[in-house]
Amino acid sequence: MEPEFDHSDEERLLLEAIEARATDIHIDPLTEAYCVRFRIDGILRVRRTLSRDEGEKLVNQIKANAGIDPGTVFHPVGMREKWNLRGESIDFRVTLVPCVSGPKIAIRVLDLNRIERRLSHLGLQDQDRECLERWASELNGMILVTGPTASGKTSTVYALLHDLANESRHVITVEDPVEYEINGINQIQVDERHGVDFAEGIRASLRLDPDCLMVGEIREAEAAKQSVNAAVQGHVVLATMHSRDAASAITRLRNFGLHDHQISAALGVLVNQRLVRKLCWECVEMGDATEKERSFFERRGLSAPERAGTAPGCDACDGVGYHGRTGIFEVWNLQEPEYDAILKGKDERYLREEVDKEDYTSLLSDARAKVESGVTSVAELIRTHTDLPWQAG
Ligand SMILES: [Zn+2]
Repeated sequence: MEPEFDHSDEERLLLEAIEARATDIHIDPLTEAYCVRFRIDGILRVRRTLSRDEGEKLVNQIKANAGIDPGTVFHPVGMREKWNLRGESIDFRVTLVPCVSGPKIAIRVLDLNRIERRLSHLGLQDQDRECLERWASELNGMILVTGPTASGKTSTVYALLHDLANESRHVITVEDPVEYEINGINQIQVDERHGVDFAEGIRASLRLDPDCLMVGEIREAEAAKQSVNAAVQGHVVLATMHSRDAASAITRLRNFGLHDHQISAALGVLVNQRLVRKLCWECVEMGDATEKERSFFERRGLSAPERAGTAPGCDACDGVGYHGRTGIFEVWNLQEPEYDAILKGKDERYLREEVDKEDYTSLLSDARAKVESGVTSVAELIRTHTDLPWQAG
């Protein structure tokens, strides 16, 4: 006989997560109990502890609802499930990983309503937003959005895709995984078990003659070469890549075996970003910047901010002092001097120095502006590694 499951425990948990703005739910087996944690604004927090029995019941419900074989004990499994919550259809990605003390479940909330559709809401400075808008309207060269894991690259790329998606354009993406489905765009899911890796996905996409190709993300040499070559051949390419800053993205492309002439022929705009928590606007108080806040910037060669915000915590932010997140960006719209430097094989330190002479926004100058206007704090910059290693000291 099929076991009967009550949907309500999982449904309640998912509703609670959405209400709390959680992006992930973690259900961890402990020796004697289960621990339920929510990730909110990038930080994991314990929500509640369940008895071993309650935890197992919940895990079994989630497995049944996600269509995971109840007998799955040894292998990690990833499944997508759709729930109709409060009249809206919301996707979740359920990952089950067997651990020594029992199955661990992680649920990613893929709420389309949360995806930022407008470039103007990402936290870009005006000149940088205009640069990206210009790229989206002129479709000239390759735009490479870089940053560490969880730096908001996907949001930037999806906001650009929303700008690009219209009836007269043929937009294809090659992604792993496809997190959000966008109407009017052809999205290819990388599936290496069936022979579709990034390079193969890109090759197939180019045969379909797209107006714009999005690659999310470039992780290996073959995909890097395919993407850059597509751009050199005149295709419009939008791609994400893991990198510490804009200058080191050039080094990464070189390490993938690309030649300087290919890189300079392909690249149009380089973006690097971080995602930081915003100080709670309900309880933030502005004051003179402290010695520590001032020296954070001074030691890195920037002028110190005069003012900075602190947020003691209130009901609106659940006592945390932060609410929501925004991006810290550097945007390089490459010009003659940078192309020259790349062609001459100059290293990233030289490129960084060249670019610093110009009027580009750097991660640190953007961060400084956001500290001075009380958007975020120096503590948050340190937590998200917005301070770059070679500039410290
Ligand atoms: Zn508050």
